[in-house]
Amino acid sequence: MSTKYNGFDTKAVHAGDFKDQFGSVVTPIYQTSTFEFENANHGAQLFAGETDGFIYTRIGNPTIRSLEEKLAALENAKFAVAFASGMGAVSALYASFLEQSDHIVSTAAVYGPSRGLLETYFKSFGVAATFIDTSDPFAVEKAINGNTKLIYIETPTNPTITLTDIEQVAAIAHQYGIPVAVDNTFASPVLQNPLELGADIVLHSLTKFINGHADIVGGALITNDEKIDRKFRKTMAYFGTNMDPHQAYMVYRGAKTLSLRVLRAQENALAVAEFLENHPKVGWVKYPGLKSHPQYDLARKQMRGPGSMLSFGIKGGLNAGKTLMNSVDLAKLAVSLGGVETLIQHPASMTHASLSKEAREAAGITDDLVRFSVGIENAEDIIADLEQALNKI
Ligand SMILES: *Cc1c(COP(=O)(O)O)cnc(C)c1O
Repeated sequence: MSTKYNGFDTKAVHAGDFKDQFGSVVTPIYQTSTFEFENANHGAQLFAGETDGFIYTRIGNPTIRSLEEKLAALENAKFAVAFASGMGAVSALYASFLEQSDHIVSTAAVYGPSRGLLETYFKSFGVAATFIDTSDPFAVEKAINGNTKLIYIETPTNPTITLTDIEQVAAIAHQYGIPVAVDNTFASPVLQNPLELGADIVLHSLTKFINGHADIVGGALITNDEKIDRKFRKTMAYFGTNMDPHQAYMVYRGAKTLSLRVLRAQENALAVAEFLENHPKVGWVKYPGLKSHPQYDLARKQMRGPGSMLSFGIKGGLNAGKTLMNSVDLAKLAVSLGGVETLIQHPASMTHASLSKEAREAAGITDDLVRFSVGIENAEDIIADLEQALNKI
């Protein structure tokens, strides 16, 4: 694709495409573990990195490369590495930056396993972690010490829908020479591009919006820094957290409709949020598209739209929340998010159950909090389903 066609949707459809000898319009699945060298010299050149090509699918593969090119294009970045899962990308991120005695500062309400990994394996390897409310950039500065090697933020957070000012955190971190990585899963590249706000690395769970059809898991690390990219690829190849070609094909296909899905779900989410905000059985609604969101202005500054994830509190707490979840009909009671279907879940008993109640509350995850991932069904149907379920409380 000529680089003069640079619109987001054009890139979503075409970036990463290449011409094969048959003129395939769609990037084929290169279902092969290994690649034949032309001769001994060619093999030697590939291993030395002196010529472009493929050696072995754990290190690289044409279908996976196509996806990586598309992902980089969507974040307006130079490099991307795809992983077997979002957590594969998180593991590689940590392992690429953190050695014994190093320190990381991270968002307290970061994705549960992203925090759990630091509190278990990386802790046992001698890596210290400080979890703070990164929506306060001064708290980030206070948490930095002489051993801090990475700042890892998630914005908006899962599931408290709290934002962190990427530009401010990046400015503070860079004063200390510390790189900033942003988990951009919730916003997707349609709504937020952290690299353009000063971040050094973007992480995605491709499982969510980018693939968008709840039929595959995958992850990616994206950067403009070639040295960092090389490190990610090396970590991926050593840990064996590579994506496989079929998975890459599925994500490559799903990503083509990314903005159509994200924008439709966002339209629905605004209607749902307004409905919930006016419902007598709902205590509070947190959605960056509502003026009642404390960071409404920050959302407008760093995001192109508020997205389709929201959380709300049911009056009556834990039990009322459980009744709601047992009463929904159209919305599916399931973890994950960002697919075409509407999903509902209860973090205190599900995704964040591995944290202590104190750690959960410190992160703003109260027992009444219900998380809602709005899909692309008709808004009237999503609202009608919520209404009948709320009536059962
Ligand atoms: C799901 C998710 C992850 C982990 O991704 P997997 O593909 O499930 O391994 C990381 N961060 C966020 C924000 C997520 O929602």
